Amino acid sequence: MNTYTNASVSLPEALINTFDTFLEQPEHLQTPADLHAFLEKHHIPLAKLPTEAELSAVRELRETLRTIWNAETLTEATERLNLLLTAIHATPQVTQEEENTITLTFQANPQTPLLERLTLAATLDIVTLLQCHGHPRLRHCAAAPCRDVFVDTSRNRTRRFCSDRCANRYNVAAFRERRTANH
Ligand SMILES: [Zn+2]
Repeated sequence: MNTYTNASVSLPEALINTFDTFLEQPEHLQTPADLHAFLEKHHIPLAKLPTEAELSAVRELRETLRTIWNAETLTEATERLNLLLTAIHATPQVTQEEENTITLTFQANPQTPLLERLTLAATLDIVTLLQCHGHPRLRHCAAAPCRDVFVDTSRNRTRRFCSDRCANRYNVAAFRERRTANH
């Protein structure tokens, strides 16, 4: 059984992990077409291919999201989230989900620039993760050089690695280190 299979990976998590320092070619978003495919997969469809400028802006956003994800405290995360949100033009909307349920959502209109739509979606997702799981559960992989992020949903809050790949790699390295120390 793969302990690390996650039913649903959130948009910010997926976006941050499009740069994987563990791989020989760490950049998954190399071209506007890569970005287009990524956004489609995460239900942010675009009328046309993103530009090179939009691609590099998204890469910058990715690092900002990483800083928020890895923030030392919830206060720091909150401040950074608010900084991002001040640049967004979104309309609050109340939508009726079922007969007796309503939800407050924030909608960007279809003409809103790509970066704003993505920032809004990623920011709201991080807020939801913080509300549902709490700040300590937003983690990053302990097996350097990997920097992948994940939500620790383990019952005893002890998950340290993004994947089996990294857990195995870390254990092998630790084992070798112990052997060297013993000889
Ligand atoms: Zn990892």
